[in-house]
Amino acid sequence: MNFSGYAGRILEINLTNEQIKVRSLDKNFAVKYIGGRGFGARILWDRTDATTTPLSPENPIIMSAGPLTGLLVPGSGKTSFTGLSPATESFGDSNIGGHIGLRLKQAGFDVLILNGKRPIPSCLIIQNDKVTFISATPYIGKGAFQVEKELKNDLDDTNFAVCTIGPAGENLVRCSSIQSEFRFAGRTGLGAVLGSKNIKAIAIQGDHEIPIAEPDQLLKLFKKANSYLKEHKIADIWQRQGTLGLVEGVNEVGILPVRNFQDAVWEYTSEISGNKFEEVFTNWHAHSCLYCNVACEGIASTEKGLRVRPQYENVAMLGSNIGIKDITEVVELNHRCNELGLDTISAGNLVGLVMEAFERKMISKKECNGIEPTWGNFQAAYELLEMIAHREGIGNILADGIRNFIKTFPQSINFAMHCKGLEQSGYDTRPLIGMSLAYATADIGAHHNRAWVAYHELRKNYTLKEIAQLVIFHQHFRPLMDCLGACRFPWIEFEIDPSIYADFYSFCVGIKTSFQQLIERSEAIYNITRAINLRRGITRKDDYPPPRTFNDPVPQGPFQGKVLEKDKYEQILNLYYELRGWTEEGIPKKETLNRLGLEDLIEYI
Ligand code: SF4
Repeated sequence: MNFSGYAGRILEINLTNEQIKVRSLDKNFAVKYIGGRGFGARILWDRTDATTTPLSPENPIIMSAGPLTGLLVPGSGKTSFTGLSPATESFGDSNIGGHIGLRLKQAGFDVLILNGKRPIPSCLIIQNDKVTFISATPYIGKGAFQVEKELKNDLDDTNFAVCTIGPAGENLVRCSSIQSEFRFAGRTGLGAVLGSKNIKAIAIQGDHEIPIAEPDQLLKLFKKANSYLKEHKIADIWQRQGTLGLVEGVNEVGILPVRNFQDAVWEYTSEISGNKFEEVFTNWHAHSCLYCNVACEGIASTEKGLRVRPQYENVAMLGSNIGIKDITEVVELNHRCNELGLDTISAGNLVGLVMEAFERKMISKKECNGIEPTWGNFQAAYELLEMIAHREGIGNILADGIRNFIKTFPQSINFAMHCKGLEQSGYDTRPLIGMSLAYATADIGAHHNRAWVAYHELRKNYTLKEIAQLVIFHQHFRPLMDCLGACRFPWIEFEIDPSIYADFYSFCVGIKTSFQQLIERSEAIYNITRAINLRRGITRKDDYPPPRTFNDPVPQGPFQGKVLEKDKYEQILNLYYELRGWTEEGIPKKETLNRLGLEDLIEYI
């Protein structure tokens, strides 16, 4: 392939027999599926079927960079992991920052597909075309950060980028993350897929140049974008606090998760806020992703020597959601999740669930291995995280996900907060029909990164149709950034003109493409992920928010007394399907698949 932006090749490794295949990236494939998540989704559709189970050797894990990954675009370190999710048993993907995607491209590959299973725990080492394995025995049982550091030392080459899993991934915990350089592919449990393949770490290094179609134009646009970001009115606060700065605002508008989403405002919010963090951790310093001068990924050190960098979700789910009101304790839980290789959102959600079940006397101290999981009990929360990661006691039930907890304690269905088996992230959606729809129809389950429309519906009154349209637009635009391989904050938080990404794409790849064309391709990819889910039994019945959203009125705050109205939700779900060109059961219609160039999917769904 001789067009630019891409490395131009796909590397596929069968871990069972060490068979390695290298093939060229087909131009039509690249244009149609863009990169990153798009490549992952299409490959996952082609390589799995209804019978493939997430933790089997047959489930591939796909690391895929985008056409902008590693190039002169703000925040271009983004790379996708894709596979069948151990959390939802359906489509799963998660995005990571750092240098791992850039190194993959420098090694000469846009995509790495891992099939099969290593006979012994191993680390995969890729240096340009050379693929080797080393024993992971020295790293087994160790934390994700620790292993990255040790492996880099052992490889004795600072040019390697390394991604790792923690003990949770090794123990096939269904909310395990993948870590690299303090960034995380946290959601959907893909760390457990790596664990199931006996892969503890992947190290990549290479020295290929990545071709750029119009380097001068790209440089000009990059400078323009970065000066826009630097001069933006929120640049200073965003650099100091990042998304942590949202905590107090989310509390004020009344959608903060408090005590397992029972409440939506919290009297101790200022204790876990961005301002509090700055006050307590005075030694923080700005840290930036690849080619981004926003530098919102600040790092601080605790007295115990932990390096920390909490974001909104970490603090909401491991703070207010479990009643912890000391920022240093929240930070310690956050750090422990990271080392154990647990997704902080799912972990905070599960700990909150146990605390509520304990409060309701559904589970006893004995069932919790002698700990008392009461709200705000730091030690209990800490121990629960250890128990989940190591599959001990009640942790073994939680390690198999929120639906497994419901199966074991059936009454918890009324307060277990998830969609499709993915634990809900940090926004209470009872007053927000659009955000409820966004969670419920997200292809990976209840995660805000597919469509975070709460911001919009809190500011304006929309008709149901307008909200459904907004959700759909976000479900195409936000994942588009995961296809391209760039950070979405410049658009979401700094309101940069979205069409700039079409120009970035055109200058990198050398194919003049409009923003609308990119959005249409992202829509096609959304239909592929829907098809993967449909093939695995997901239909309309799975597109509903959790029962608490409908049944338990918000106890206090601006939305006191609010629940999501069931008939209105049915209406918006119908509208959503109609606008997408799906049937009333949520199945893409033949004409929709034709319109999106997905004719070959028709016979399967
Ligand atoms: S905006 Fe923040 S998260 Fe995004 S690339 Fe820049 S520093 Fe990284």
